[in-house]
Amino acid sequence: MTIKEIQNLGIIGAGGAGFPTHVKLNSNPDTIIMNAAECEPLLHKDMQILRNHGDVVLDGFKIAMQLTGAREGIIGIKEKHHEEIRLLESKVSGNIRVQAIDDVYPAGDEVTLIYMTTGRIVPPGALPLSVGCVVQNVETLYNIGMNKPVVTKFISVAGAVEEPATVEVPVGISYAEVLSHFKITAEEHVVRSGGLMMGVLEHDLNNVVSKRTSALIVLPADHHCVTMYRRFSTDHAVDIIAKAACDQCSFCTELCPRYLLGHPVRPELAMRNRMFTREDEPLMNPGNLSCCECNLCTMYACPEGLDPKGATLIDKRLARAEKRTMSGEKPMLHPMFEYRQVPVAKLKQRLDVTKFRDEGPLKQLNVHPNRVRIPLRQHAGTPARPTVKEGDRVKIYDQIGEASSEISCTMHASIDGVVKKVTEDEITIERM
Ligand code: SF4
Ligand code: SF4
Repeated sequence: MTIKEIQNLGIIGAGGAGFPTHVKLNSNPDTIIMNAAECEPLLHKDMQILRNHGDVVLDGFKIAMQLTGAREGIIGIKEKHHEEIRLLESKVSGNIRVQAIDDVYPAGDEVTLIYMTTGRIVPPGALPLSVGCVVQNVETLYNIGMNKPVVTKFISVAGAVEEPATVEVPVGISYAEVLSHFKITAEEHVVRSGGLMMGVLEHDLNNVVSKRTSALIVLPADHHCVTMYRRFSTDHAVDIIAKAACDQCSFCTELCPRYLLGHPVRPELAMRNRMFTREDEPLMNPGNLSCCECNLCTMYACPEGLDPKGATLIDKRLARAEKRTMSGEKPMLHPMFEYRQVPVAKLKQRLDVTKFRDEGPLKQLNVHPNRVRIPLRQHAGTPARPTVKEGDRVKIYDQIGEASSEISCTMHASIDGVVKKVTEDEITIERM
């Protein structure tokens, strides 16, 4: 397989970031790390892919190593996954090794995972490649190993549903159609896509599954997390709450995973910037550009229930508007790093999700949507350019969009049908 073929298959980071895989692999790292550190509470899709399709994932891993010339491959996986670790260890040898890591959040953050598996710290503002590493998610490697256009997505469906599961669905299917295959146990409920910590509260269940969607989590409408998500939905709310209630205790900073890795992220400073300046004359700390948006400061660390992550995002936006960059200085690990890791079990307690079944076996759904809407911006970079027009007949796997730049990807039909609509955002296909 070649780098160009990876682009033509439409493979992008399936863990959520959506960076085009061919760009990441067009490099010369000494190490490739498989990100099997799935750490969002209630998510299980990567473990299910490994358990059910481990050979394909390993094929993809070896292809990624060959393409880049990496000397070493490391599989970073939580130590609690004994069965998957045994399975992987029985299949790998030579320059590939399995590295068991603690069950902490956010172990799946690239920078955190690189430290946990190699001891190297990516400098602020730099890419993993600066320390010789490239990180690829389990499902991304599965897609490489499959060597077929990416037209389906594995997602975890969890929370207030009778039978949580991992399902493989066509790209472009609506959330509502996926959820119609599950019995929801909360009368009044909302849906969070992507994960409890880093996801998005969905206001429209006609939105569709993309190559980046990793989960649909159903929550009762009065759940603690939903109250938190809704309280901080605007910059103005973040600003007012920071001015009124932050006591500058700094717990948010002291537990921030990037701060503990020596990055200049200071959510408590972001809160102070909101406290002591007017909304129209804001201060900002450019070091907050290094925030990975893990949401730990807001959903776990702050004893006052405030939104330091929201304040940090305001700092990031302001810094980007001023074209500020990071120094790239070599970071120093915080001496308390080891002691301030947040166990996922404690995080689940704090989020009040221990009542939900924490499992997600792979389940075959009989899903045949009559209509899919394929977004043209599923990846970072520029959107795909449509190569079909209304009325065209297409078959599953047919190309319907081409890469519009080097940082872009090909798109494919996920069902047989007729192209009903083409806009600059998406292509609608209806089954014939
Ligand atoms: S945002 Fe919360 S944790 Fe951070 S300094 Fe203010 S009160 Fe403390
Ligand atoms: S979201 Fe909060 S805890 Fe996470 S990296 Fe950003 S500032 Fe740190």
